[in-house]
Amino acid sequence: MIRRLNCPICEKDLPLEIDGNHAIFPFCSQQCKFVDLNRWMNGEYVVSETLSPEQVYEELSQQETPPEYE
Ligand SMILES: [Zn+2]
Repeated sequence: MIRRLNCPICEKDLPLEIDGNHAIFPFCSQQCKFVDLNRWMNGEYVVSETLSPEQVYEELSQQETPPEYE
């Protein structure tokens, strides 16, 4: 088991009582956990897989209605 872990937000050493079973792991505090959550909410971690509503609609309509050949 690795003992020395750093908080990914503030980069301080994690207190020893925070291990993989701890509610706020891998963060050093509720505040850092909240900061991380906020980053998710703001889309900072979102990679380039975002589809526009038009693209989503297009994909759905392609699946549901086969092309008609007349
Ligand atoms: Zn921290």
